[in-house]
Amino acid sequence: MHLQNKKPKYLSATKYERKNMPDTEYYDLLEVSKSATPDEIKRAYRKQAMKYHPDRNPGDKEAEQKFKQVNEAYEVLKDEQKRAAYDHYGKEGLNGFGGGNPFGGGFDFAGGFADAFGDIFSEFMRGGNGRNQRSYSQRGSDLRYNLNITLEKAFAGCEEEIIIPTTQNCEKCHGHGTKNGEKPSECPTCKGSGTVRRQQGGFFVLETTCPTCGGTGFAVTDPCPECHGTGHKKINKKLKIKIKPGIETNMRIRVPGEGMAGIHGGENGDLYVGIVVEPHKLYERNGEDLYTAVPVSVSCAILGGTVEIPGIDGKKVEVSVPAGTQNDALIKVKGEGMHLYDSEKRGDLYVSVKVIIPTKLTEKQKELIEEFRKESKENQPEIKGFFDKIADMFK
Ligand SMILES: [Zn+2]
Ligand SMILES: [Zn+2]
Repeated sequence: MHLQNKKPKYLSATKYERKNMPDTEYYDLLEVSKSATPDEIKRAYRKQAMKYHPDRNPGDKEAEQKFKQVNEAYEVLKDEQKRAAYDHYGKEGLNGFGGGNPFGGGFDFAGGFADAFGDIFSEFMRGGNGRNQRSYSQRGSDLRYNLNITLEKAFAGCEEEIIIPTTQNCEKCHGHGTKNGEKPSECPTCKGSGTVRRQQGGFFVLETTCPTCGGTGFAVTDPCPECHGTGHKKINKKLKIKIKPGIETNMRIRVPGEGMAGIHGGENGDLYVGIVVEPHKLYERNGEDLYTAVPVSVSCAILGGTVEIPGIDGKKVEVSVPAGTQNDALIKVKGEGMHLYDSEKRGDLYVSVKVIIPTKLTEKQKELIEEFRKESKENQPEIKGFFDKIADMFK
């Protein structure tokens, strides 16, 4: 099968390069030419936005940055006036549109400061005051679940029921782990500080997290009989996951609040459902396009005709084979591919022709083919031309 290589061409540019780039930057970000139609731009935007979407790349700062740039580019290129100004004068041409921030609404990631200094900042918070105290309430852990779906389901979208092993707050003690269901008392080991000091070898005083309370400063002395003081219990949770048409392998669906239960009133973690689209026996997928192969009889390949194949949407697809079709020829059937993600639009279907040479012939067929051969000897310019070319190579 012939698969077109559609690897993205855009490589991340350094800050220096970006500054000196000609003003096709926005087009480059979306991987379209300057003459792209609004439709092409929209399509390209969807593709790039999906690729760099934070949900798909959790914690990846570079992807997040790219996501912002792609949105910035689209904000300009989708607007006829802004695009024209950009084409003529570059980014400077956009200053007339709404003051300092020409990109209006757009996507806003909370907190410029926290964003830029996040890592350093949290480092200070952790180590700065020299204490290892953890807060009493803690957010539950995120969960990851891999979900396999068929190509048909990926095409049409679906709702899948999954069962995830997770935790939930103990109803009896409201998550506190105490017999009376109230917040536990101060930890007797560390007196509520969350840390203990140990003298080592007479010189060193080592400060470590309190082993009794795990650093929270609170300890359950009278545990809840239901959960044995943990404050939560293990459950298998049934969830329905809605999957939009056009989903691809490696995409992740974030389900907020469906991770592990928060501890002592902390918020729940999130659930990330990673999608794996199973291989299909008939179709190979490349983005929104599908590829398949179809057997074609010799007479159909020579004289032309139509073949029917089952489409991914369950309907029959008629593929018209033009007269004189060669083996391995690729026939494009427009609009019979996959859905673009979360869209009504569809990619194309490419059908690779496999001409089948018959091995068992009736007497009549043999006669006809003999006839055909006699006729061809004098009258087949393609084959004659081919042998002439070979002869030329030895001159
Ligand atoms: Zn309990
Ligand atoms: Zn303690």
